[in-house]
Amino acid sequence: MATAIGVVLTDHISAGRLENQRLTGKPLRYPNDPEELDALVTIPAGELAEMIAEHVDVLAGKQTGGADAIGVAVPGIVRGGVVEDSPNLPQIKGSHLANVLKKALEAHGITTPVHVANDADAIAAGVAATHGQLNRLTRVWTLGNGIGYGRWPYVDGVWEGGHITVSLDPKERYCGCGGIGHLEGIMGYRAMRLRFLDMEPEEVFANAKKGDERCREFVDLWHRALAAATASFIHLAGPGRFYFTGRNVEFLELPQLRSHLETMVRMSPLQSYSLEILPPDDETALIGAGVSALRALAT
Ligand SMILES: [Zn+2]
Repeated sequence: MATAIGVVLTDHISAGRLENQRLTGKPLRYPNDPEELDALVTIPAGELAEMIAEHVDVLAGKQTGGADAIGVAVPGIVRGGVVEDSPNLPQIKGSHLANVLKKALEAHGITTPVHVANDADAIAAGVAATHGQLNRLTRVWTLGNGIGYGRWPYVDGVWEGGHITVSLDPKERYCGCGGIGHLEGIMGYRAMRLRFLDMEPEEVFANAKKGDERCREFVDLWHRALAAATASFIHLAGPGRFYFTGRNVEFLELPQLRSHLETMVRMSPLQSYSLEILPPDDETALIGAGVSALRALAT
């Protein structure tokens, strides 16, 4: 039986123990209060690693019988265990997180191999594992403060889909990375707050439903931007399954997205795509982090 520990580091830490790709027991969470959104931003990278090691110790320490692999999912560009960039968790930028975690775990007497993955890739892996489709191309958009793009199977590359350019308007400059015309600059939660200084994104979407013209135009732009980015990936890697999740997936109206997508993808061999909303939860990413770590062991 393969056992793995899955850890997700986003605006909170979540950690769970997996046996044969299934979560056993309730995942651990820090901070406990889900409304506390900025708890991790001010914590230095070394302390974050120590906190993760403490969580893993509870789940895979001497009392619980260890594990075969530890998978940690983090937002940003992750290659070879190094977090090359992480706009929404800047303190881990540039760190060899896999090595930092390895050392922190060794201090707890844990020598299990550690694999670090991008958080959206982990969700794609988790979706593929829980849907029994580990042999198929699975793509996921995560809608939150940042916009994440994940794919399974993992292929080397950058894949920063949230920063794909979807507008040529020089006034589109709200992306967290500073780039002009980016998807995240339109869809990201932080970007929406910068655009609408007088209302929260929730109010923008609610007012659009009530017929407010400025809000309606923005909600249309928001869906068109996501359609444009999705269409670009369909034109590059082909049709297939796209999933949408994350804290702000409640803003997404699939019929609106689909009608824009239909205007953008006109070649008939490319029209067999499917779109599905997944309720945001930590479990899919935890499973994906664990599955990715076990796969990385085998290669
Ligand atoms: Zn950007």
